[in-house]
Amino acid sequence: MPIWPEHRFFYPIDWRELSMAIRFGRAQGRCESCGRPHGQMVYHLGDGRWWDAEAGSWRDGWGRRIRVRSGTDILGRASRTRIALAAAHQDHVFKRLKR
Ligand SMILES: [Zn+2]
Repeated sequence: MPIWPEHRFFYPIDWRELSMAIRFGRAQGRCESCGRPHGQMVYHLGDGRWWDAEAGSWRDGWGRRIRVRSGTDILGRASRTRIALAAAHQDHVFKRLKR
């Protein structure tokens, strides 16, 4: 995700490398909150639930496997989104990776 010019001052000079190390090193290309894979088209229900094609199961917004009732029209409700990982600080404080 590009940095807005007016926010550039808040990021460390090596943010690009730091972001890459977090997204594809530590997180191994998956969201650390929900487990969605970077760059993949993922079916979701718009409420946090998404289809993990690799595992062959639905997951909730925290990445836990869940069951979705088969009687409902799931495919009629599902949307597809391409996942793009972004690095962010969750506690509003930048933390440097140990090297
Ligand atoms: Zn996520």
